[in-house]
Amino acid sequence: MDMRAQKVLIVDDEPVNIVILESAVSSLANVISTSDSQEALQLVQIHKPDLIVLDISMPKRSGFDICRAVKADLGLREIPILFVTSFTDSENERKALALGAIDFIAKPIDIEICRMRVKNHLLMQRQKSQLSTYNERVLEEKEQLNITLNAIADGVIATDAEGLVTFINPVAQRLTGFNEFEACGRMVDDIMELRDATTNAEVINPALYTMKVKRPVAMAFNVKLVSKQGKECRVEDTASPILDTQGNVKGAVVVFQDVSESVAMAVQMTHVTNHDQLTGLPNRVLLHDRIVQCIHRTDTAQPSIALLLIDIDNFKYLNDALGHKVGDSIILSISKRLQQACGKSATLARVGGDEFACLLADVGSGLSADGVAMSCLQSAREPIHIDGRHHQLSLSIGISLFPQDASSAEEMMRHADTAMYRAKATGKDKFSFFSKDLQLAMRKRVEMEVKLRTALDNNSLALFFQPKYDLNLNKVVGAESLVRLIDDDGGIVSPDEFIPLSEETGLIHRLGKQVLVKSCEFIAKCVEANKPLKIAVNVSAQQIANPSFAKEVEEVIVSTGIDPKLLELEVTESALMADFDLTRNMLLALSSLGLTLALDDFGTGYSSLSYLRQFPLNVLKIDRSFVKDMDNEPQALDIVTAIVRLANCLNMILVAEGLETELQFHTLRQLGCEYGQGYYMCKPISENEFTTRFLNQTTIMT
Ligand code: C2E
Ligand code: MG
Ligand code: MG
Repeated sequence: MDMRAQKVLIVDDEPVNIVILESAVSSLANVISTSDSQEALQLVQIHKPDLIVLDISMPKRSGFDICRAVKADLGLREIPILFVTSFTDSENERKALALGAIDFIAKPIDIEICRMRVKNHLLMQRQKSQLSTYNERVLEEKEQLNITLNAIADGVIATDAEGLVTFINPVAQRLTGFNEFEACGRMVDDIMELRDATTNAEVINPALYTMKVKRPVAMAFNVKLVSKQGKECRVEDTASPILDTQGNVKGAVVVFQDVSESVAMAVQMTHVTNHDQLTGLPNRVLLHDRIVQCIHRTDTAQPSIALLLIDIDNFKYLNDALGHKVGDSIILSISKRLQQACGKSATLARVGGDEFACLLADVGSGLSADGVAMSCLQSAREPIHIDGRHHQLSLSIGISLFPQDASSAEEMMRHADTAMYRAKATGKDKFSFFSKDLQLAMRKRVEMEVKLRTALDNNSLALFFQPKYDLNLNKVVGAESLVRLIDDDGGIVSPDEFIPLSEETGLIHRLGKQVLVKSCEFIAKCVEANKPLKIAVNVSAQQIANPSFAKEVEEVIVSTGIDPKLLELEVTESALMADFDLTRNMLLALSSLGLTLALDDFGTGYSSLSYLRQFPLNVLKIDRSFVKDMDNEPQALDIVTAIVRLANCLNMILVAEGLETELQFHTLRQLGCEYGQGYYMCKPISENEFTTRFLNQTTIMT
């Protein structure tokens, strides 16, 4: 509240009256007084008093005259005038009121009455001026609000308690198609036609709804606004009731936005998140949804659902060798072929780089999972032509069935994956159904992998050694090192159970290195015991294919300080079937280190001896399958005889594997096979046993 002191101007030609009036008013306001009626108007202009106490009859200029002049001035006319008069006739009173005076004080002046009257008028004046300040402020705020509402990017519509529009901003005018004059005074749902974007059904207007429920509301999802001109846009909004202090609904405000663009974007986003960009096929996310839907719809008594997981064989190599562009083209053409092969009723999805999945909703009724799988395999066999080159591809497919094999979408995916893995492991270009046995085998495989990794991490693989004999002298001339995995319970796991696994998982490189180091350390130990034995170490095809293998071997030879002549590396025929030049160069590099190279399991591969001659091999090991059959199959004996002769011709050292009987021992010796190893002489034994049996004895064995 404005607590500025108020001012009262007293005009009376009789100084005694001024004194009386002043004494009555001075406690209420600042007093300015004059007895000169000529000066009065000037003082009014200077001081702009809150109240003028004016004598009527004065020489020079009458009170009426001054009053008239004040009321004629726009800036002063609001100042209330209180006449002091001895005239009590009604003529003068009428005249004074007509001129705009508010009240009279009668002479002789009663100080108390005078004070009360002045006090009341001052109070009224103060309230009046406060009111006008408030008014100004309200007007200003309203103006500000209008500017804001007109400027914001959202549509705003306000209504009264009946739902009649009282305000509509320009954005709302544009979206509804109604201008301010058309809109104001009409029902809000008349100018704001809202419908469900999908069903086109009318939707209750949020302004009316918010008043009904007396709380802010958000518009129903998926709503469109139809303009006066029939234009549609997707809108999203909120509405709030306008409540007075007692909580009575006075109206409502709706604020809404055109979300057409973001809806379009969202639709596109949904497509992107559910589809593979390259092929446009559903991706893993959408496939999962479809499987779940299918499972929900399927009555367990009904035909089942099949999930085919389809993987392109060797795709990684193609992609790495030929580049991603070619890789993408291959994926694209395979996806088209698969779409054809799977048929329209199937859902084909791309679930990984080179992995597709085909969901068949009701196998058994006409469709069969293996039939579709066969078509898929067939479709991929036709060569693909890209940039003038032909690519021959094949697929591996795993199939799982609901409800037979799996009870959930996740399980279906997992089991199809397991089955696919089986198809790959058994030769590729195949399909395979999931089975419990398969699951068990997979679980064992996983367990074995964990064991193997742990053993590698702990460097706890063990080596067994099987002595190699000179058959003529019946003396140990060397040994083959054979890796073993020691189980938690001390059981010994055969390499046949983990070497193929280590090759598939790439762990063979770490394994090979550890075996090589341990073998070389063992060589050093033998030398120290004054028994320099040649130790043969098995090397897998992947190790030979590793370009840095020769360097690694050299490092181990150097670090263990052994004579490379005491080291022999055994490679299998299949290891030599890869890239001829690379393999030959690798073997030359190894042989230049001074070690010996042996061809293991000879006879089980398909390579001819003339082909093998081109590799720097020193030793041939006849596979134990021939040795085993030699006793009772003349053909096997013939083969061994031929191998012995060929080895002699090629000047290669011959070692027979798997000698189990005395007969085999003698036959081989008679045939001219110089060396042999087998259970007949000695089984593979632990390092400790080998040490006590062969290193600590006094006979020289070389
Ligand atoms: P391989 O190199 O042909 O090894 C000879 C296998 O024949 C050994 O099996 C040995 O125990 C077995 N054997 C020896 N004498 C006889 C016999 O008189 N009768 C019979 N029936 N078998 C005999 P093991 O130790 O189970 O090794 C199996 C295969 O595992 C090896 O065949 C070799 O290919 C691979 N392997 C073993 N250790 C390693 C290794 O350190 N690295 C790599 N890459 N492969 C290894
Ligand atoms: Mg071997
Ligand atoms: Mg062998």
